[in-house]
Amino acid sequence: MVLNYSEMMIRYGELSTKGKNRMRFITKLKRNIQDVLSIYPAVKVMADRDRAHVYLNGTDYQPVAESLQQVFGIQNFSPSYRIEKSVPALIEAVQEIMTDIYQEGMTFKVSSRRSDHSFELDSRELNQTLGNAVFEVIPTAQVKMKAPDIELRVEIRTEAAYISYETIRGAGGLPVGTSGKGMLMLSGGIDSPVAGYLALKRGVDIEAVHFASPPYTSPGALKKAQDLTRKLTKFGGNIQFIEVPFTEIQEEIKAKAPEAYLMTLTRRFMMRITDRIREDRGGLVIINGESLGQVASQTLESMQAINAVTTTPVIRPVVTMDKLEIIEIAEKIDTFEISIQPFEDCCTIFAPDRPKTNPKIKNVEQYESRLDVKGLVERAVSGIMVTTITPQVEQDQVDEWLADLL
Ligand code: ATP
Ligand code: MG
Repeated sequence: MVLNYSEMMIRYGELSTKGKNRMRFITKLKRNIQDVLSIYPAVKVMADRDRAHVYLNGTDYQPVAESLQQVFGIQNFSPSYRIEKSVPALIEAVQEIMTDIYQEGMTFKVSSRRSDHSFELDSRELNQTLGNAVFEVIPTAQVKMKAPDIELRVEIRTEAAYISYETIRGAGGLPVGTSGKGMLMLSGGIDSPVAGYLALKRGVDIEAVHFASPPYTSPGALKKAQDLTRKLTKFGGNIQFIEVPFTEIQEEIKAKAPEAYLMTLTRRFMMRITDRIREDRGGLVIINGESLGQVASQTLESMQAINAVTTTPVIRPVVTMDKLEIIEIAEKIDTFEISIQPFEDCCTIFAPDRPKTNPKIKNVEQYESRLDVKGLVERAVSGIMVTTITPQVEQDQVDEWLADLL
């Protein structure tokens, strides 16, 4: 008998504490896992009150495990073998597994549970029978009840029996979407993707709002923002990407406001437009990548001047982090390499050399009175382009598959 993993058995994270909402959480998590694993067409996902099950249907377990490790809302999971529901088959499987993984001096135990109570042995009898089966092939093996090196978990379910011995830690957090929707202001920089990741972690269903100013910004800059969004789909599935035409507004500001205030005015327009899009699309909050003191637009005075255009909560997940801390996360979530690609952002191009670090609201309002703020916002909002970004197989995985074929 050659054993291959047939499924991943998934244990839920924090959601188990959520009482009545439990089923809603589980349904969302199931949907997210389906989205994230849609890159493996044969994989099927099932979820019940206690566990979710990912059936591999012949798919290699390693890449699926790597994908699952990133999905928020999973506490941990165990790759499992599906075994015929009979005592001889279980004995044979246990002996084969132990022969394969046991090393001199290791301790073990068998933990059985039955959801099918009609099975011929109860869990205590199963533990004993299968433990004895282990001694038959490894007479020197030692049983240890507390924290053994190997815990063979045996589950008797209605349709079959399952054995697992490995527990892989999940990402924790909350299933994406269980906390409601928020609009992520996504540039091509290092900070905003990290802010998006942290919002996803606490269950916020993000939509990425990106301001583009062609021809001043290149198609490469737009693609960069889309690639960053795609990286974020690993944590909870598909993300809506919203491209906002921003050229007219930037040209207007440039023509009619003093250099020192370009940045503040630009940011206020971004905030207004994002808020309008949020309202139209049922979002509850705005999320951005501002980090205190990092650049001129991110002094407390600046934040206040920019934030003054809305009463919508603005979440700033990286506001108190140092640049190095943010970069550490960007590397972990694999966005850093994309973020440092040299494509000009709309703000870099129009950025003055010396932006005002303590803009006065009175001045800001006076400069804005020279502009048709309402009309500009209206036109930008009516020109948005929305696309769905879905997960994609990573290139190194594709290379591996190709290498296997040759
Ligand atoms: P980032 O690394 O996220 O670009 P940053 O340190 O470069 O941040 P700024 O350029 O001042 O900071 O931008 C502050 C925040 O404003 C960004 O984190 C992002 O949330 C938002 N933002 C800036 N430019 C854009 C853009 N073109 N589209 C959408 N949001 C933007
Ligand atoms: Mg930036």
